[in-house]
Amino acid sequence: MPKYAKSQGEKVVRSSDISILCGIKPDVIRRDFSHFGDFGVRGRGYDIDKLIVQIRKNLGINRKKNVILIGVGSLGTALLKYQGFRTANFNFIAAFDINPKKIGKKIGETIIYNIKEVNSFIEKNKIKIALLTVPTSETIKIINNLDSKYIKGILNFTSTILPARKNNIYIRNIDLARELEVISFCMNRCNI
Ligand code: ATP
Repeated sequence: MPKYAKSQGEKVVRSSDISILCGIKPDVIRRDFSHFGDFGVRGRGYDIDKLIVQIRKNLGINRKKNVILIGVGSLGTALLKYQGFRTANFNFIAAFDINPKKIGKKIGETIIYNIKEVNSFIEKNKIKIALLTVPTSETIKIINNLDSKYIKGILNFTSTILPARKNNIYIRNIDLARELEVISFCMNRCNI
C-alpha cells in the first residue's frame, strides 16, 4: 500500500492512510514499523522509498526467490499465469504434475515436470518454497514426500488444513472458499 501512495507521486505516507487501506489501527502500524527501524518523519509520516526497502527486507523478498508449483490443474494454471508473483519477486522456476499429458508442456515460461523428479529438482536448485494445488486427497502424500531438508515453506491451496509448522516447514493454508465465508460472516455481523 505504500506503493499505491508512491504511484500517486507521494514521498511520505501516514500510518492513518495505511490504516484505511489495510484495516489495521494506526497505533498498531506505528508500533510494528518501529521494530523495522527509524524512518518515520516526525509529524509527517514515513518515507515511502525507505519503507518499501525495509518491508521487502523483512518479508525476505528483496531478492528474487525461486518457487515451484505442484499440481497444474485449473487453479495451478491460473497461479502460474498470475503476474503478481513476479512483481513480488517470486519466480516459478518449475511446475510438477502426475498427468503424462501435462508433463513437458509449458505454462508461460514454466515447464511442467514429472512429479517423480520433484525432490531431485528441489535438491539441485535448492528450492525452499512450494505451492500446492493438487487434489485434496493427494495433499498429505505429497507433503510427506517433499524433501524437508530443503523445502521450508508451503503455500497450501488444497482443502486439507495442515498444521502451521510440520517437520520444520512453515505452512500457510489458503482456502479460497473459506475467504468468502469470512466476508459473509463480516457482512452478517454488520447487517450489510
Ligand atoms: P484437471 O485440469 O486435471 O481437470 P483440476 O483443475 O480439476 O485438474 P484437480 O483434479 O484438483 O484439478 O488436480 C489438480 C492437478 O493436480 C491436476 O493437474 C492433476 O493431474 C494433478 N495431480 C493429481 N495428483 C497428483 C500428484 N500426486 N502429484 C502431482 N500432481 C498431481
